[in-house]
Amino acid sequence: MKTSQGFCLVEGGQVVDGTGSPPLADGAVLIEDGRIAYVGPRAQLPPVSPQTQRIDARGGTILPGLVEAHFHPTYFNVAALEDLDIKYPVEYVTLLAAANAKLALECGYTAARSGGSLFNIDVWLKKAIEEDLVPGPRLAASGREICGVGGLMDWNPDFRRIGMEGLVLLVNGADEARAAVRKLVKDGIEWVKTYPTGDAAAPDANDHHTLCMTAEEMNAVVQTAHNHGLKVTGHCRATEGIKNALLAGYDTLEHGTFMDRETMDLLLERNVPVVPALFFELASIKHGPEFDMPQSVIDGHQETLEGGAKSARWILEEGGRLGMGGDYGFAWNPHGDYAKELSFFVNYVGFSSLDTIKCATKTGAEILGREHEIGTLAPGKLADVLVVDGDVVSNIALLEDRANLLAVLQGGVLKAGRLAQSGVQSKPEPGVTS
Ligand SMILES: [Zn+2]
Repeated sequence: MKTSQGFCLVEGGQVVDGTGSPPLADGAVLIEDGRIAYVGPRAQLPPVSPQTQRIDARGGTILPGLVEAHFHPTYFNVAALEDLDIKYPVEYVTLLAAANAKLALECGYTAARSGGSLFNIDVWLKKAIEEDLVPGPRLAASGREICGVGGLMDWNPDFRRIGMEGLVLLVNGADEARAAVRKLVKDGIEWVKTYPTGDAAAPDANDHHTLCMTAEEMNAVVQTAHNHGLKVTGHCRATEGIKNALLAGYDTLEHGTFMDRETMDLLLERNVPVVPALFFELASIKHGPEFDMPQSVIDGHQETLEGGAKSARWILEEGGRLGMGGDYGFAWNPHGDYAKELSFFVNYVGFSSLDTIKCATKTGAEILGREHEIGTLAPGKLADVLVVDGDVVSNIALLEDRANLLAVLQGGVLKAGRLAQSGVQSKPEPGVTS
């Protein structure tokens, strides 16, 4: 991905650096050749050359670009689970995924970790973004997901005579689990996404207290993935599934819904980050009836919402790590709404704005394994910077509306926001590859 050249000064607003520290009033961020050269009070800024480009934060907030830690680029706002694998051919889903990536960047998300993708579209989407063919967040790719036969993601009954090749690899036993990971190794993915447990969406055979993979299958996945330098995550709702994942050596947990003391201790021991992806539950409860969602599913989402909120608060209290991301890409929880996750964590779960922003920036970068490059505003890091018109700390919901974003910078290049539309920052010089 190209970075900007020369100097650019972002000034005239409070700086929230992503570490959870209190905001710095009247701060400044100086960017040199796509990287942050200075962060601090504007009054202590070293002299800058007259050629320096300037971005006026207009009394608003300067913060790190946001990280979507559970991004499904190929989910195209589907109204039914079955749509995910058979509605469109891979060619069209690829185009939809590129559109979703562009939208995420426009919403201030400069990086994202895929939570699973049809085929390995996200692997190639990442390449296209890195080569500046299409705009989007810096991606970590997952490709196809792994689930036990008969589990949550194995929803096509045999009479349909279609498999799930595009979306998931279905496994029976440790050998098939190993084989599935080896296939993904060749695809070029970075994160192996698995389904240790079911979900409220499937109340009959795979509800959120049901296991969808055995401990042996999960151990085989982790051993094979780690051998090849890949990381492993999983859809973990049931307490037993969370425990199996932590004992197997999972690198992150998705959801971590129903925790007990034992799973909490296992989680803290290895400091495993959890991505609750919880606003989805509230959106399902609110809008499910419009989409003919059965009452049993809605009741399950209510239980998930309460259990998930309790666990998220508990993890934060115990000093654990949480990433922000959220299964956006369903009709009732569409792409573009990503920042609703943040407002929800402040207004419903009870996190502070600063803790929530830290989860959505610093911890997100740690989940991607790129904390040395992105995630906080610090000298030497890539200038992935968001400039928001207004005080995000007192009103985090400002992030929900793209119209409030003045600038979205990626490697110092102005990619989106009101200033990009009005061309206030003069076009960057031809960049260099970072
Ligand atoms: Zn997901």
